[in-house]
Amino acid sequence: MIIDCHTHLLPRQAQQDRSGFVATDRAFGSLYASSKACIASTDDIIRYLDTSGIDKAIVFGFPWEDYDTAKQNNDEIWEFYQSYPDRIIPFATFSLDQRDLAYKESERTLSAGFAGLGEFSMYQVGWNLADFEALRPCLTMACDRQVPVIIHVNEPVGHRYPGKISVDIRALFKTIRNHPNLDIILAHFGGGFFIYSLMPEIGPTMKRVYVDTAAAPFLYDSRILTASITALGKDNVLLGTDFPLLGISRYQRMLDEAGINGRLRDKILGANILEILERRLH
Ligand SMILES: [Zn+2]
Repeated sequence: MIIDCHTHLLPRQAQQDRSGFVATDRAFGSLYASSKACIASTDDIIRYLDTSGIDKAIVFGFPWEDYDTAKQNNDEIWEFYQSYPDRIIPFATFSLDQRDLAYKESERTLSAGFAGLGEFSMYQVGWNLADFEALRPCLTMACDRQVPVIIHVNEPVGHRYPGKISVDIRALFKTIRNHPNLDIILAHFGGGFFIYSLMPEIGPTMKRVYVDTAAAPFLYDSRILTASITALGKDNVLLGTDFPLLGISRYQRMLDEAGINGRLRDKILGANILEILERRLH
């Protein structure tokens, strides 16, 4: 079974006309002001899954500063899931600017039956210790319900691009250490964070840390796959495409180049995330 663990669906209103959102949400504006930044509809996502031979996709929105927009986005994802319960796996996201609202939205969505939280990001200012602390109640709730959380992390070096942020690595590690029983998926190969798993004193803490492949064809050569599998383990690398940014074919090419076939390929393409999602407590 092929599962894409990283796709985005924005509210219908933003699909039709993004200009108001670009003007009012700075983080969104920084990523989506250019019309080259694609926005997918539910039909686009289903068509993508069908034409790519993908069985299911985890779908999440955007961490909107405005909570009504975040709720609307999450509600539309829930609607999408209800129309395609066998294809769509709903995740809920929102900004962390207002802790009480973040907590309420976690509670509301997870109680409704969302399968996880994220992708969380601080697109405007980057991740610092206070942001990870703000995330803590949501992580505790996810841990209690045994649902995974996806966090946007990117590499600190290399070319600049919209959405590339600074990440306080020590604060990230502290967050991971504080939640040993939570499945934490670091998007975009965790910006290389997985390498610390090779430190004997750190490795055991990273057992439930995963990375997804999202945007990797723009960032790394295919050796990133074997490097991350070596560091984290064969259970801990997950296919994520960041659709509509990219489709699956570029990732399949990376897997080919890395010579990853058979059972290991099946695990990365879906079996690993399936195992994580099956831990959910009802
Ligand atoms: Zn991301």
